[in-house]
Amino acid sequence: MNIQLNFVTEYRILSKVDETRMSEVDRGLKNKFIWSWTEKEITVSVVVNNNTSERTFILSEFITKVDIPGKALCTLCQSLITYSSKGGGGSLMEHCKSKKHFEKMKPLFWEISHSHNLSMSLTFW
Ligand SMILES: [Zn+2]
Repeated sequence: MNIQLNFVTEYRILSKVDETRMSEVDRGLKNKFIWSWTEKEITVSVVVNNNTSERTFILSEFITKVDIPGKALCTLCQSLITYSSKGGGGSLMEHCKSKKHFEKMKPLFWEISHSHNLSMSLTFW
């Protein structure tokens, strides 16, 4: 008797211990996923009502590798990031600077979620 398992998830999250799977997934790609890309920090500075609030995130707080060739997942946005074609690790950083990602990050800033009348600017470095 054959038992067939159907998985509803389209991808599986990989971790540092899945080395074999990692090299299978990204085999033949110009830019292969490197975990140290996710160790980079990003500082987000938000100005609300003339008060500046800064928070530093490590990319690995949001970004992980999944078993799709050339793609990483942002768990905050639930979106896939392509790093294989051009930017490599820079693509992950680019994603974190995107408007879409920032919208998802807003609730992480107390000042924003508790302010009714805000003028806001945003800087990354
Ligand atoms: Zn994101």
